[in-house]
Amino acid sequence: YPSSSKLLLLCTLSFSGGGVVAYSESRSETEHPVVDAGVVPKKKVVVLGTGWAGTSFLKDLDASRYDVQVVSPRNYFAFTPLLPSVTCGTVEARSIVEPVRTLIKKSKGEIKYWEAECVKIDAANRKVFCNSNIDNLVGRGKFSLDYDFLVLAVGSQVNTFNTPGVKENCHFLKDIEDAKRIRLSITDCFEKAVLPSLSEEERRSNLHFVVVGGGPTGVEFAAELHDYVQEDLTNLYPAVKDLVKITLIQSGDHILNTFDQRISTFAEQKFTRDGIEVQTGCRVISVSDKEITMKVKSTGEVCSVPHGLIVWSTGISTIPVIRDLMEQVGQGKRRVLATDEWLRVKGSEDVYAIGDCCTIDQRKIMDDISAIFAAADKNNSGTLTIEEFQDVMDDILLRYPQVELFLKKKHLLDFTSLWLDSQGNERKEIDIEGFKQALSHADSQMKSLPATAQVAAQQGTYLARCFNRMDQCEENPEGPRRFRGTGRHKFLPFRYKHFGQFAPLGGEQAAAELPGDWVSMGHSTQWLWYSVYASKQVSWRTRVLVMSDWTRRFIFGRDSSRV
Ligand code: FAD
Repeated sequence: YPSSSKLLLLCTLSFSGGGVVAYSESRSETEHPVVDAGVVPKKKVVVLGTGWAGTSFLKDLDASRYDVQVVSPRNYFAFTPLLPSVTCGTVEARSIVEPVRTLIKKSKGEIKYWEAECVKIDAANRKVFCNSNIDNLVGRGKFSLDYDFLVLAVGSQVNTFNTPGVKENCHFLKDIEDAKRIRLSITDCFEKAVLPSLSEEERRSNLHFVVVGGGPTGVEFAAELHDYVQEDLTNLYPAVKDLVKITLIQSGDHILNTFDQRISTFAEQKFTRDGIEVQTGCRVISVSDKEITMKVKSTGEVCSVPHGLIVWSTGISTIPVIRDLMEQVGQGKRRVLATDEWLRVKGSEDVYAIGDCCTIDQRKIMDDISAIFAAADKNNSGTLTIEEFQDVMDDILLRYPQVELFLKKKHLLDFTSLWLDSQGNERKEIDIEGFKQALSHADSQMKSLPATAQVAAQQGTYLARCFNRMDQCEENPEGPRRFRGTGRHKFLPFRYKHFGQFAPLGGEQAAAELPGDWVSMGHSTQWLWYSVYASKQVSWRTRVLVMSDWTRRFIFGRDSSRV
């Protein structure tokens, strides 16, 4: 987007108060909307993205206070936790999406929506440049928007770790289109495998399904696929039923390694019983249309196996438009866009970021924790009494909820190991250094919140509430004490509340980590999963559709037709 002064503007679509300008090659001085004298214009809020973070922000924002515009290339919200179910037809794609226009219609004020992709953010001039993804607009698909506040909720993209051949030969599972493509490809693999002209070896290769990544998405997809094969496809393709193989490749030592260890062990044992091959400690080094090549980390051995379909689910990375913004705001060296605890992008006062596209900057977390301990240890003795220690921990957990998550996972929250010495006698004092060392092992895990819908939705709600109270806070500037540094801030910082997480494992079984360090596994947990995911739907329409899809599947099985 060259910034030369030559006016090559093809057409200007000035929406009163909206600040929308069509552009082709350069910007014009006539872009600003005409405002009636005497009317104080509302502040312009531009929201990029209509996923978990964007829609929860819009749902809770009092849009009558602002001039709100939303840009997203997809005109719907997708309930991503049910995407793996869409890949096998357990749930239909349309059952888990809600049109953006239906969602914004319920808002208090007017919200304008543009179906387009933001391709460039100009932070210095408070402007975003967008391209419509609708065909045949002949030069009119490009436009720019001015903003007073920009809310980034653009999510992330799949991380391929630059592994050769992944983009060309693997399926991803990020959105509805991906899930629909996988569903068709599974049917293709079976139809191809039963063709009379194929050798047994070729049939076997076509029916080798590989899942790369042993996180929740990879595990859930492998489980769904296994159920689909066992409950539906083996009846429809009996000739090849014994040739089907599902392999799950994980570079770490265990699958579901962000879950409690009991859950990851349960999942591995269940997959082994089901005949899903779990290959841990393997790193994929290249993929071709016929083979996947991997290296066993412990021995260095390299092997290649033929495949029919690969689903790549190994984590997320930053999308290009955010990467470009990071360069502009001095965050070029970081991997992920950083915000402060109030979700403001570091280096740009008017830009906020929520959801998977950002992380709250916790780089100095250990320094802060050390400073809290040092302040509490007034005598410089290196120890604290139990009461002092408890006060310090209350303070730390309030500032850094991630510490609580980590401590829970490591079963340290009751601090039993700290209360008791090696002989099992109760200590009178706690060794600060010992505890800090235990925490520092977890430093990297504590730095970022997990990239989940839960975090994204809570951030959206938090930010909307801040926006709703912005005027009130300006009139009464005395806000809550800042946690870091000195002085005060308008709002309390964002605080994440963890409600637990699920991992469906197939065969009507699931595992769950619930609040209060509860772990639940088996058939009853699957029913809990059904009720939670039905209740979490964004509308009654999708709730009814999802539940009727589940019922249809119970009665008639899944539909494998290629439509
Ligand atoms: P997204 O929901 O990805 O939304 C991004 C939005 O930005 C989209 O509307 C997109 O169209 C738009 N966008 C993209 N680029 C641009 C652009 N250039 N300009 C404008 N708009 C743009 N989390 C859980 O908590 N529980 C689960 O069970 C769970 N299961 C999952 C299963 C799968 C298969 C996947 C893929 C994810 C799952 N997650 C789950 C994670 C969860 O979906 C994400 O953390 C969540 O979607 C992040 O929300 P977001 O709003 O940041 O991004």
